[in-house]
Amino acid sequence: MARYESVLDWVGGTPLVRLTRAAEGLRPRVYVKPEWQNPGGSVKDRAALSMLRRAEADGSLRPGGTVVEVTSGNTGIGFALIAAHLGYRSVIFTSSMIAQEKRSQIAAYGTELRLVDTFVPKYHPDSLRSQAERFVTETPGAWLASQYDNPGNAEAHYTSTGPEIWQDTDGRVTHFVATVGTGGTISGAGRYLKEVSDGRVRVIGADPITSSYVGGDGSQKYIEGAGHFVHPEATVDEWPKALDLEVIDDYVAVDDQRAIDAVRRLARTDGILAGGSSGVAIVAALETATDLTEDDTVVVLLPDSGRTYLSTYFNDRWLVSTGFTGSATDFDAPTVGERAAAARLVERDEPLAAAVRRLAAEDVGDDVVVLVVHRREHRVLAPHPSDVVGWTTPARLRVAATVAGSVQPAGPRLGTGIGLADPAVTGWDPADGEVALVLDGGRVVATLTWAAVNLEPAAAGAAEVAR
Ligand code: PMP
Repeated sequence: MARYESVLDWVGGTPLVRLTRAAEGLRPRVYVKPEWQNPGGSVKDRAALSMLRRAEADGSLRPGGTVVEVTSGNTGIGFALIAAHLGYRSVIFTSSMIAQEKRSQIAAYGTELRLVDTFVPKYHPDSLRSQAERFVTETPGAWLASQYDNPGNAEAHYTSTGPEIWQDTDGRVTHFVATVGTGGTISGAGRYLKEVSDGRVRVIGADPITSSYVGGDGSQKYIEGAGHFVHPEATVDEWPKALDLEVIDDYVAVDDQRAIDAVRRLARTDGILAGGSSGVAIVAALETATDLTEDDTVVVLLPDSGRTYLSTYFNDRWLVSTGFTGSATDFDAPTVGERAAAARLVERDEPLAAAVRRLAAEDVGDDVVVLVVHRREHRVLAPHPSDVVGWTTPARLRVAATVAGSVQPAGPRLGTGIGLADPAVTGWDPADGEVALVLDGGRVVATLTWAAVNLEPAAAGAAEVAR
């Protein structure tokens, strides 16, 4: 075993572990690289250390300075522990949508956490990014790391992750599979592996199906860290400078359900407890390996551990409440899905007359619930809850000035598998006539009204069933 003289020397040097049962029947050797072996528990410790050392070297971060970053969690953890060790103040801007475990870990190192929950595009003055930039301008000695555009991000992987993979496979790696968030990992490690192998190593980008990197609609997903989200009101889809598209040979798009299934299975077959983005990478790697031979060696980078997601992907209650399958919970009572009505959609900015005409042509009754959603070019899945603005009815639309002007706020979110006797439903206060959003695989596929919940069993049989 290695001995380190400081926590910083512990960053990097993660092992390769061969998949046995999960890769049964496949011809190539498949190895995972569990990046939670880093001191902060993720691949992002490498990037944080590299960016911080560069900032010290070029004078943008000086003794007594403040390290600032906008992050979905893991980069914040990396900066938090490194700043603690080196005696810098650190301030992390993030959203409460990220795993609670990551927020708690950041705070544990003594870092200040600024939670920003306004759902606005990047250049809006209230966005995470704008607030962090304002903080840096107003704080003497503050340095904003900007991982999306910082060359130190990919460099970390060019100088450490890539060489480790090459050495630990004795130069036999033929395929490298990684998810793409900022693109730092795949760009840095991928470039190194291509250079050292004279272009022989193929680099595969694994990404959530909604990510705009793989041609998705840019909508939200449940897998943290990987993929590229585009705010529905963003005027441009700006990709990170850290992402080097030339390095990526192929992409594999994976939906949330398959990624969740993959990590749940991996824990049970190989005893390896990995996070959600690891699931995306595993699905892509096993799919890639199907077409390869005994001469091939596939290396899959697993960004973080499943311990961070025990309350979500590995939690039956969460799976049921978001409409993902995999839960062992079994309800005898009628479920939400049985009383739900299939979702009808209009877009918030759609011309009112067009929306009314379309609903009339589809024979949608006056009082039928219609969801008002943000526009998404080439929508690939049903809307994510964050894309739902609220609900309306054809009757309300006819007397409104705009679609947006007729919107009522939506009520609770309920997975199709939740029993109607479940407190999640009985705790629902329908006094204001609100409408619940019904989720299947985390996407809004149906609506539920209090009237439908209270249907007599016989009448319920006639209700439109969502799945
Ligand atoms: N998975 C997780 C859990 C992450 O935190 C990140 C970093 N955002 C990634 C994948 C993607 O890594 P990268 O930013 O290097 O592309």
